[in-house]
Amino acid sequence: MKIIAKKSLGQNFLFDKNIIKIITDCTKIENKNILEIGPGTGNLTKEIIRKKPKKILLIEKDTKLLDLLKKKYTENITFINKDVLKINENFLSKEKLVVFGNLPYNISTEILIKWILNLGSKVWFEKLILMFQKEVADRIISKFNTSTYGRLSIMCNWRLNIKKIIDIKPNSFKPKPKVDSSLLIFTPKEKFFNLDSPKTIEKITRIFFNQKRKKIKKSFNLLFNNADLVAEKLQINLNLRPQNLDYEDYYLIAKEFENLRN
Ligand code: SAM
Repeated sequence: MKIIAKKSLGQNFLFDKNIIKIITDCTKIENKNILEIGPGTGNLTKEIIRKKPKKILLIEKDTKLLDLLKKKYTENITFINKDVLKINENFLSKEKLVVFGNLPYNISTEILIKWILNLGSKVWFEKLILMFQKEVADRIISKFNTSTYGRLSIMCNWRLNIKKIIDIKPNSFKPKPKVDSSLLIFTPKEKFFNLDSPKTIEKITRIFFNQKRKKIKKSFNLLFNNADLVAEKLQINLNLRPQNLDYEDYYLIAKEFENLRN
């Protein structure tokens, strides 16, 4: 059956066998509980199944494609015909999941941020292996004092260790996307700044990076009644700009903001 890729669902199918091998070799699959989001025509799924996972959950929005996969595979697979953005990930499995996702670019970022904001003390996944537009992946892994550093890297690095696996050229996909892609692997951090709410980091970084070129004194004044005292306590120089503060500085600021508000 001829499959016509739906642009609206960001369907760029990965057919490069070498890349599929790199993706499925970057973590142990045997006997693991796997979640694949956006399996599409099943190119990755096939290789995942070959590696003998304990069970697989597949979440795919496109009913037709999921029906085709249902006909092909049966054993130990749960098919979920839903929009991944509308699913409560905490109820997917009792056991921790290894997640693979070659999703449309905009959804990869949205789902990652949603998952980070919803993280409780117990993390529901063991690893996330996700595809991004290369430019976005570079922002996620960027370090302070670089031009790509910003909210995305600060939010993602709060609870997750992040590593780039590989950059992928458009000709590994059909149809070809217009941009390069990168595969990132995320593992939960054992030690991280405990905050009452992840939304605090979202709020703090929004205030700082809305005024990206201004000195951070301005943002401090918006957040704290006595900005100079707080800056002194946290040993942060108010003449710096948002890109000069390391991740940890932002987590410290978020913690102090929560302490003073409570
Ligand atoms: N994983 C396949 C591969 O590598 O060839 C397909 C990748 S394609 C870039 C993205 C897949 O995600 C498509 O199959 C698409 O239908 C599915 N998808 C798009 N939006 C989705 C959503 N919100 N929830 C679940 N699946 C979605």
